[in-house]
Amino acid sequence: MQDLITLVIASHNKGKKSEIIDLLKNFPVLIKNLDDFGSIPPVEEDGHTFTENAYKKASITAKILGLPALADDSGIMVEALGGAPGIHSARYAGKNATDEQRCSKLLKAMQGKKNRRAAFKCAISIAVPSGSALTYLGDCEGLIGEKPVGSNGFGYDPIFYSPLYRKTFAELDIKEKSLISHRGKALKQIRDEFDKILIWIRQNRNAPKK
Ligand code: IMP
Repeated sequence: MQDLITLVIASHNKGKKSEIIDLLKNFPVLIKNLDDFGSIPPVEEDGHTFTENAYKKASITAKILGLPALADDSGIMVEALGGAPGIHSARYAGKNATDEQRCSKLLKAMQGKKNRRAAFKCAISIAVPSGSALTYLGDCEGLIGEKPVGSNGFGYDPIFYSPLYRKTFAELDIKEKSLISHRGKALKQIRDEFDKILIWIRQNRNAPKK
């Protein structure tokens, strides 16, 4: 039997982590959280794209811990706002704002706008201790609602309406959401290629000798 590969989820976001853990649950990986390693320096998300930020988070975490790491960088892009908040989705209403405050700021910015088209975007990188990483992308189109509806999920889910389900993401359970979500799509590609990813991780899982 093959040994389990340890994979550290490089995120403190509970919503993201539970979706990632749920989608990887049948794979031969031992999932660890950042909290399992005491305090490590936060990675500054100063990239210009979701891909750059995901790559940086996964790569630095894998280098620091000497273990394979997976990072997700994601956010919502709203057409009528020129793509905002985009890569700034987490900090859209300030550094310590709550999900409710972020949703309410976005709803205010959308007041009176006829074009409600928006898309969630996700980049997931899996890195090995040398710093190399593989990156997968997913997106999901929908509409910004007029008010928050539903209590599942996290972030902008209560105001993201899916025309496919005719519900907001916050009215879906984790399985329904993952079938069409940006994160679900990126993770599906990872699941489809997981055998090859595992071979790559096994060949590169030890930190390079100095
Ligand atoms: P970051 O990737 O940690 O920089 O932050 C992503 C931010 O985008 C989160 O804090 C959420 O506000 C938002 N976001 C990302 N994915 C989702 C999702 O699946 N549902 C709702 N909001 C999301």
